[in-house]
Amino acid sequence: MVNQIVELDLTYAAQQPTTADVVIIGGGIMGLSTAWHLADRGVRHIVVVERAALGSGSSAKPLGGVRANFSDPGNILLGQRSLAAFRDFPHRMGASIGLQQVGYLFLCRSDEEAAGLEGSTELQNSMGVKTRMVSPREAAQINPLLDSDALVGASFSPEDGYANPSLVVEGYAARAMELGVTILDRTHVLNIDRQGDSITSVTTNRGVIRTSAVVCCAGAWSARIGAMAGVDLPVTPVRRLIGLTRQCSEPYPRLPFTLDLSTTCYFHNYGNGLLLGISHQEESGFCREFDYAWLPEFSAAAATCAPELEHPDLVGGWAGLYENTPDRNALIGEADELPGFFYATGFSGHGFLQGPAVGELMADLYLGRESFIDAKHFSVERFSDNSVGLRELNII
Ligand SMILES: Cc1cc2nc3c(=O)[nH]c(=O)nc-3n(C[C@H](O)[C@H](O)[C@H](O)COP(=O)(O)OP(=O)(O)OC[C@H]3O[C@@H](n4cnc5c(N)ncnc54)[C@H](O)[C@@H]3O)c2cc1C
Repeated sequence: MVNQIVELDLTYAAQQPTTADVVIIGGGIMGLSTAWHLADRGVRHIVVVERAALGSGSSAKPLGGVRANFSDPGNILLGQRSLAAFRDFPHRMGASIGLQQVGYLFLCRSDEEAAGLEGSTELQNSMGVKTRMVSPREAAQINPLLDSDALVGASFSPEDGYANPSLVVEGYAARAMELGVTILDRTHVLNIDRQGDSITSVTTNRGVIRTSAVVCCAGAWSARIGAMAGVDLPVTPVRRLIGLTRQCSEPYPRLPFTLDLSTTCYFHNYGNGLLLGISHQEESGFCREFDYAWLPEFSAAAATCAPELEHPDLVGGWAGLYENTPDRNALIGEADELPGFFYATGFSGHGFLQGPAVGELMADLYLGRESFIDAKHFSVERFSDNSVGLRELNII
């Protein structure tokens, strides 16, 4: 049974409180992971405000890739920590999330790409991630849809894979509510009110919540939330699309999440069919309509590296928004100019796989505790202060 795009129509419809210790804006993976981690650490009077249904933003996709296969220490650590939480989710959160550790296979088709992957693989190995370089022949054994002649090599990270974002959102929401978190769905944040350098309240379409702390987890809409508080969050919405193939009577072989570096074309199993796509060039904007403009580009890429997929038998698909930052890395921190305004956004296509770790980091940041990574390297200040940089990441 294949689970298509899900919006969690849970209609929590709690009464809106008049005060809160912290208001979290956004009911996607980030908002709900942050809410649960805060509540789990003993914070009370937490309110999550979501203008539509939970998971109706970018967190509603059918399957989300999860991996620690990155090229820099910060993203490796966020991915690694989240993978551990995804593995432990059924035990710790009491919810199955459909985690399939089928591995990630990054294909390279030039020596330059191979050298890049070798460097990333070494770095990952030094941090305990079991990625390895594989030959074209081995890559085609791991994924029989590939044409080994098109490849120079590949990197394979066997512990990566994918899980179901809706189930993760639902799991965090259910456990957060058990710990007393108030979740207001179908409630719009209209304004963040401040007096000087302090937040005083959040205004929604249902009234005013007095609070001194706000966490912006508004995904692709975060720049608007930042503007309400006078904080510049450089997050740009960009449409991304996924195609769904027909469910076949015979399943495809079990495939890793496979991504061709030179074209960005990717595919993996989805029930007895496949999910597939490519990072087609898009203007920025909030359009979330699905179309097939990306398909010729996908077909051209597939013709070379996975010829069987040149003309995929598509039955539809899904469009959602990437929440891109100028350097395609997350924005995580507390605004220098407005203490009490926290942000976890700009995940640039990696927000699902980073959700558990970032929720933990946000809770530590709010409580002023040392965390597993220093959040300052993801601070928005890096765009105005050159001394703050992702490369210098100091891993604790
Ligand atoms: C096609 C596609 C494929 C992807 N694949 C992957 C993948 O394989 N792996 C991965 O890790 N990530 C992937 N991503 C990215 C991932 O889905 C996002 O990074 C992640 O879901 C972001 O979660 P979030 O909670 O920050 O934002 P969202 O889930 O977008 O949640 C933000 C919420 O804020 C709410 N909101 C906005 N404004 C207001 C307001 N004024 N008042 C109240 N609520 C408001 C919105 O309604 C929304 O529900 C993909 C994205 C797309 C589009």
